[in-house]
Amino acid sequence: MTRSTGSGQDLVATSKGYPRNRNRRRSVTPPMPAVEEIARNETFFRAVNEGIAEASERFESEKAEFLCECGDAHCTHRVEVPLEEYEAVREHPTRFLVRRGHIEAEIEDVVQRRRRYTIVEKVDRVAATIVRRLDPRPAR
Ligand SMILES: [Zn+2]
Repeated sequence: MTRSTGSGQDLVATSKGYPRNRNRRRSVTPPMPAVEEIARNETFFRAVNEGIAEASERFESEKAEFLCECGDAHCTHRVEVPLEEYEAVREHPTRFLVRRGHIEAEIEDVVQRRRRYTIVEKVDRVAATIVRRLDPRPAR
């Protein structure tokens, strides 16, 4: 009788590799939940602003008061932005309009500074993934 197992592998021998042995380094960026929370807050404000933009277009105004799209859920600041500019920002799923100084430097870069507001872009991978997934204007 011949046994057909060609690989003389011993399963016990592989038990060395517990998943927890994987290198889990602590990162210097904010912990995941914080980044996720920031991204969700921002997408929430963005969703509200989409409604504001729609209403303003209906009334044919050239600018509107938008909510600051920063990561602070309690931020109540508003920024007056020309609709044209707002539209330009919305063409990029990872760009947001925030009041001057309302920047999460660890996860976003400044794209443009205006007198009263700043356009930022998510550069953090986790944050960018979340805000892309929640893009109110998917691929056109
Ligand atoms: Zn803000």
